[in-house]
Amino acid sequence: MTQPHVRITGLSRDFVKRMTPVEATLARFGADYHDQVVRAVSDVSFEIGKGRILGLVGESGCGKSTLGRMLAGLIRPTSGEVRVSDKRFDLAGLEVGAREQLRVQMVFQNPMASLNPRQKIVDIVSEGPVYHGLIARSEKRDFARKLLSEVGLSASDALDRLPHQFSGGQRQRIGIARALSTSPDILICDEPVAALDVSIQAQIINLLLSLRESRGLTILFISHDLGVVRHLCDDVAVMYLGRVVEMAPTEDLFSGALHPYSQALLAEVPSVRGGRRDYAAIKGEIPSPLNPPDGCHFHPRCPMATQTCKASYPDISYRDRTLVRCHMVE
Ligand code: SF4
Repeated sequence: MTQPHVRITGLSRDFVKRMTPVEATLARFGADYHDQVVRAVSDVSFEIGKGRILGLVGESGCGKSTLGRMLAGLIRPTSGEVRVSDKRFDLAGLEVGAREQLRVQMVFQNPMASLNPRQKIVDIVSEGPVYHGLIARSEKRDFARKLLSEVGLSASDALDRLPHQFSGGQRQRIGIARALSTSPDILICDEPVAALDVSIQAQIINLLLSLRESRGLTILFISHDLGVVRHLCDDVAVMYLGRVVEMAPTEDLFSGALHPYSQALLAEVPSVRGGRRDYAAIKGEIPSPLNPPDGCHFHPRCPMATQTCKASYPDISYRDRTLVRCHMVE
């Protein structure tokens, strides 16, 4: 791996599900109700090399977006830490100031929801740098013009229009331009092409690849689409119920996943040319994160589960370049 650019260690995030008023009243009379803690992300550690693209995959609700938001500094971890270029990076800004926090930016799935519908494009893409004093207000049109052209939009058409006057693909380009406006060196992309047609997806993927080259970006790419992940990412981390259960270079994972969950997920690998296909359906229900199974959380759905799997959670082990959590691999 190249020099680590992002290092996360023991990152966890809990959410509390509070009792309803009725439950709280009943609890006061002795009924068995209490607040419940959901561990959305649990003890996740990994590194992303400078200029690399790490894909993050897993079924809905596995904690991918929560992890991405913690990396972007939008959610405070319950425990653990994120380091960027070896400086601690989090909402408390322990070692980094507001300027440094601009180095990590996020691209969202639905640009229509994340762009202010009443704001002109010139303001959307220049607001951050003006606010943070990176450019003067008088420079914003020139600045926005350059940025829009970098993401493949004609500035003369775009600057004074509103988000609803663009197609979905164009809006995502605007979302990327806004993310780039503070010159980040890390992008967190949360399902950025999920809402787009296949042909437009390919254009956005190619844009991200070219920006990685031209700007030296390090990217965390959260996606349901394994074809896109295989095409775009250098490494892939597979999450299940809040934990990374396998992480490997993309070619290693797709040619021989070690964890039974990854194997099930990749059982049918879609081709990027054949169009989008989500994960293969895996037997059994995803357990509730409010009440995860004892031992390996995957054991109720795993065809290889043993008594050991039901009793203890597997530690991290390494096989060549692959990190994996599974008793069978240990
Ligand atoms: Fe399956 Fe056991 Fe490995 Fe979990 S630890 S994935 S239950 S074999």
